[in-house]
Amino acid sequence: MSVEPIVIDSIINGKKHKAEKQAPRENPANPEEVVGYAPLNTKDETIQAIDAADQAFTEWRQSSFEDRISRMRRAIQKIKDNASDIAALLSREHGKALYDAKGEIAVSLMWMEFACDNVMEVLQDEVNEHDGGKTIIARDAIGVISAISPWNYPISLSTIKIAPALLAGNTMVLKPSPLAPLAVSRVAEIIAGEFPAGVLNLVHGEAEVGVELTSNPKVAKIAFTGGTETAKHIMKAAADTIKHMTLELGGNDAAVVLEDFDVNDEKAMRRIVVSNFLTAGQICMIAKRVYVHESIYDSFIEKYQEAADKWIRVGDPFAEDVTIGPVNNKKQMEFVQGLIDDSKQKGAEVIKLGKIMDEDLFKQGYFMQPTLVLGADYDDPIVEQEQFGPTVPILPFKDDEHAIHLANKSIYGLTSSVWGKQEHAVKVAKRIQAGTTMINTAAIQGLDVRFPFGGVKQSGIGREYGKEGLLAYAETHVINMPDALDLPYIPE
Ligand code: NAD
Repeated sequence: MSVEPIVIDSIINGKKHKAEKQAPRENPANPEEVVGYAPLNTKDETIQAIDAADQAFTEWRQSSFEDRISRMRRAIQKIKDNASDIAALLSREHGKALYDAKGEIAVSLMWMEFACDNVMEVLQDEVNEHDGGKTIIARDAIGVISAISPWNYPISLSTIKIAPALLAGNTMVLKPSPLAPLAVSRVAEIIAGEFPAGVLNLVHGEAEVGVELTSNPKVAKIAFTGGTETAKHIMKAAADTIKHMTLELGGNDAAVVLEDFDVNDEKAMRRIVVSNFLTAGQICMIAKRVYVHESIYDSFIEKYQEAADKWIRVGDPFAEDVTIGPVNNKKQMEFVQGLIDDSKQKGAEVIKLGKIMDEDLFKQGYFMQPTLVLGADYDDPIVEQEQFGPTVPILPFKDDEHAIHLANKSIYGLTSSVWGKQEHAVKVAKRIQAGTTMINTAAIQGLDVRFPFGGVKQSGIGREYGKEGLLAYAETHVINMPDALDLPYIPE
């Protein structure tokens, strides 16, 4: 069933702004259907949005926590009231199954509520009365924040920035990805509507907009989620004005399955499968390579296939029994297929998993049947690169030392997981280089918005979520009142 395309506007200084050019967003399950149009803003419009945020900052930074929190809570309520429409729009433009789109909104709301509940305690002045006098540690707002988000979790990876930034007294210009611009714009419209003009601005577009957002001298901080290659451009663009940055980048997360993992634990096996294929594998924190102890390797593969065949049902994102929809875009589909073909050519075995629920639809959209890749080399591209799609290599390891070496042999270090007896798993986990390591669970299943999330190595800089995710939008400002105003060693 196709629906009337929607048209999204940008928001500059509290007003909807019609851009001269629009970009269509297709439905990945049926690329002939246009789900909606998002603006293609220009450099000049981006400058207008930054100027509006800059002007709004002077007053907004002086607003009270109570005022900011009550506005954000009103926005939360309105998002909740509209959640089912927003989820349907997200599903249609993105390709993720409806339950998955609803889950994304639920996690976004959880975080926004956590931010409201905790911002006052985390960012209030810390007054220290000590033997040398009195010192206040204040948490000042930073200024204009450029928020740039990717297509895979457009709502949660935008609200993860909007909520703490605005609650901390900053103003913002948000630029979502052209590959899923519609539902997140609905959310941004709701939030912007609850705040004074200019506090939250919304622009859309490609690199021209991105370059302005990351180089304009009025921008104080960049909050970016996306690919590591894009982040390199951003760091260069931001260098001249030494901008603050939170970078949440790519990952190639390892799952290590120890010899004491119970392959007959069906629930645990399903969790591994989900951690490989949720959202058709298009999550930064998906387990993208699985290492299994050689003593259980064969039985693991057998049970894994059984679990995967049960859980993976590829089809119409709106169908109730479907767990995996299409890949978001053609380029991504071709990239993932390229990695699979390369490993096949090198002699690996590629095993199809799960069921195709609707063959005609499958042919029509950017659908891929999930695959398991066996017999790849440890340094093959399918193992070393971030696939970001529905395929996963599973490889054997000899002992803990070997597994730790393989897990750490990557330029990335976002999340990881260790599966087995808890004590043993924690011992191994402590030696893995990653921002998060989950025990007996992985990917979004093990995510908790109350605790910091982010990557080490080339997976990023800084943390989102948790108290650190609030502190990331504040400057530490020390106001010192020492008793000894004159230092004894400075001559009269
Ligand atoms: P991307 O880097 O291609 O795009 C991200 C955003 O940056 C988009 O809005 C895009 O329009 C914008 N952009 C592109 N060029 C730019 C430039 N020169 N200056 C400023 N902005 C620019 O990433 P993507 O394909 O949308 O998302 C997939 C990637 O994001 C994967 O690598 C994934 O691992 C990563 N990701 C990381 C996390 C995390 O939390 N670490 C979460 C989700 C996705």
